Amino acid sequence: MTTLTPTAAWQQMLDGNRRFVNGEPRHPNQDVERRHELAHQQNPVATLFGCSDSRLAAEIIFDLGLGDLFVVRNAGQVIGESIVGSLEYAVEILKVPLIVVLAHDECGAVRAAIDGTAIDADPLPPHIWKLIAPIIPAARKVLAENGGTSPADIDAEQVGREHLRNTVANLLQSSELISDAVAEGRLGIVGANYRLAEGTAVPAISVGIDTKGIEDVPATEEGSQ
Ligand SMILES: [Zn+2]
Repeated sequence: MTTLTPTAAWQQMLDGNRRFVNGEPRHPNQDVERRHELAHQQNPVATLFGCSDSRLAAEIIFDLGLGDLFVVRNAGQVIGESIVGSLEYAVEILKVPLIVVLAHDECGAVRAAIDGTAIDADPLPPHIWKLIAPIIPAARKVLAENGGTSPADIDAEQVGREHLRNTVANLLQSSELISDAVAEGRLGIVGANYRLAEGTAVPAISVGIDTKGIEDVPATEEGSQ
């Protein structure tokens, strides 16, 4: 089983992301030997809960391979029953030391939530609406803070950061199993924003991570904590 600490697991992911950003990926753990080795067991480095966006290909952007990441995704990375259940499975059964919640810029779900704040917004198909609705409070908060009146006044990046913070807080509130694991030092959670153009995963919020122990941390995003 894994012996990685939450901080070491995050360091490993940051190292992989740096290789990807620099165009020097190693494409580890993708050969036939690795596939055979994993046939009856898995011991992932971390679990990643991210947006389904096709540009957020989890193992590619962190330069990881088979068996390295337990991945859970939906559009806009919105917390729900099946998400919490999957993350709890990763923590309790697979003993992963780290959950990375991955948001990104130019997110279509965030855009839909912003557009949904308009009084005359076109209705969305019901299942899409249900998924997007939890992001709307973040959009309304940003609108109120900036004194705007219409979706055009809302900064999507700011909504994305707000939604990311809400998501991490919501996860800790929704799952005693997960908040206990953090309190016991077995689990860290990092909320990060992925920048599509640069390819960087920039941490915006973390719990249970020794940030002083991280080498070469990318700059924390403005206005976040
Ligand atoms: Zn997205």
